[in-house]
Amino acid sequence: MTKSKELHIFFFPLMAPGHLIPMINLANLFALHGAKSTILTTPKCTSLIQNQINRFHLSGHCINLLVLSSSAKGNENLTSPELSTCFLKAMDDLHKPFDQALKEHQPNCVVTDMYLPWTQEIASQNSIPRLLFHTMGYFALSVIDTLDNHATNGCVNVDQDEMVMVHGLPHLLQMKKSQLHDTVFTRKKFSEFMESVTESELRSHAAIVNTFYELESQYADHYRKKIGRKAWHVGPLSLVNLPSPSQINCLERIMTWLDSKQLKSILYICFGSLSHPTKIQLEEIAHGLENANHHFIWVMRPTEEDVQEKGILTEQGKGLVIKGWAPQAEILSHSSIGGFMTHCGWNSVLESITRSVPILTWPMFAEQFYNEKLVVDVLGVGVKVGVQEWGMREEGKEVIGRDVVERGVRRVMDEGEEKQRLGERVNSMKEKARRAVEKGGSSCVEMERLMQEICAWRS
Ligand code: UDP
Repeated sequence: MTKSKELHIFFFPLMAPGHLIPMINLANLFALHGAKSTILTTPKCTSLIQNQINRFHLSGHCINLLVLSSSAKGNENLTSPELSTCFLKAMDDLHKPFDQALKEHQPNCVVTDMYLPWTQEIASQNSIPRLLFHTMGYFALSVIDTLDNHATNGCVNVDQDEMVMVHGLPHLLQMKKSQLHDTVFTRKKFSEFMESVTESELRSHAAIVNTFYELESQYADHYRKKIGRKAWHVGPLSLVNLPSPSQINCLERIMTWLDSKQLKSILYICFGSLSHPTKIQLEEIAHGLENANHHFIWVMRPTEEDVQEKGILTEQGKGLVIKGWAPQAEILSHSSIGGFMTHCGWNSVLESITRSVPILTWPMFAEQFYNEKLVVDVLGVGVKVGVQEWGMREEGKEVIGRDVVERGVRRVMDEGEEKQRLGERVNSMKEKARRAVEKGGSSCVEMERLMQEICAWRS
């Protein structure tokens, strides 16, 4: 402990909520273990992060912020799932300031997001060990590795009905071809980017994974022993999270509304920070919800018109609609929440499980279809709404009809055997998650060993 107190660690997140939130929690976890944690950011993103870390300061822990002197104009803030040219250009502009920061401060180690592969080279030129931070779990990482190598490992067959069978993992994985990103079968520009991510992982000292052993033990073993990657799991990091400051818009009104409802009677709906279902899809969801006749809280991204004219919180029928940023972790922690319709972003999955909330899966892009497989087929803590196509819900693409939505909602929310079974399974997993981060738990032990290893690199 005395040695680790002197450790100085840099954290460099990707500027998107699903990457930033767990990275800040990770920086806090290191601070709790006695390290000096410094988060790197850009001038445009400073206030966003400052608000988050103020919460830790209030609790007596110190996380520092280092603003890179960059001319980036905000394009480094990822607001859509695509890695746009503007975003990649903004990343290029950060190479030099990142290099200067390492030279000036000489941290003992730098933890950078998986999607910042270029940080590996700069860290190694400065002889500073780099740890890569994965914002997905071992299950998804193992599937991606198998699919990436399918041409050479013969683990993938596609049958006439376009069903893809993936062998060689702890479970046989079966998915429709339409549920996979097209880069699995055709090389595209994005494939090159993902190759650079893998290459940077192989060159880094190790990876940190936001998960806990008991959640996906077979895949933790598969990833570390069979694939042979060095990785530490120290999550779920959402359990390091602190309550949001009361300044969050409408927090009090939301809590009062939740307080007025019965135990586990409300469905929470949110598709993450980057997804925008089409208008026609939103209408089908609205009808499905109405027909299922359960209370709900639905988070929608606001249009400009919404912000100017309608405010952000409205009651509609049996629901509360939040247009804008919702205090998701707080909502999921409330005892009246009985289900979560989610796009299966990894943070949302973990937040749901650690709050003992069964999941209704609505995957859209990235690794979300693999997360759905884990949630439904492996862990049994959720049911599928039944999405068949990978991709954002652009006009002309698959629309999930109101009857299908209603059926999914009823399976998770109607009283009966299925709700009870899901509830028991997710509750048991929640208990395991809490034990994992306690003293002596699997993630806590990993974290202590990781700290020792970083200390050893220094001496
Ligand atoms: N989130 C939130 N309020 C919102 C939308 C998202 O607090 O209105 C948080 C959510 O709790 C999670 C993160 O943003 O921590 C989203 O990450 P996830 O991996 O679930 O999805 P992504 O946004 O990366 O697709």
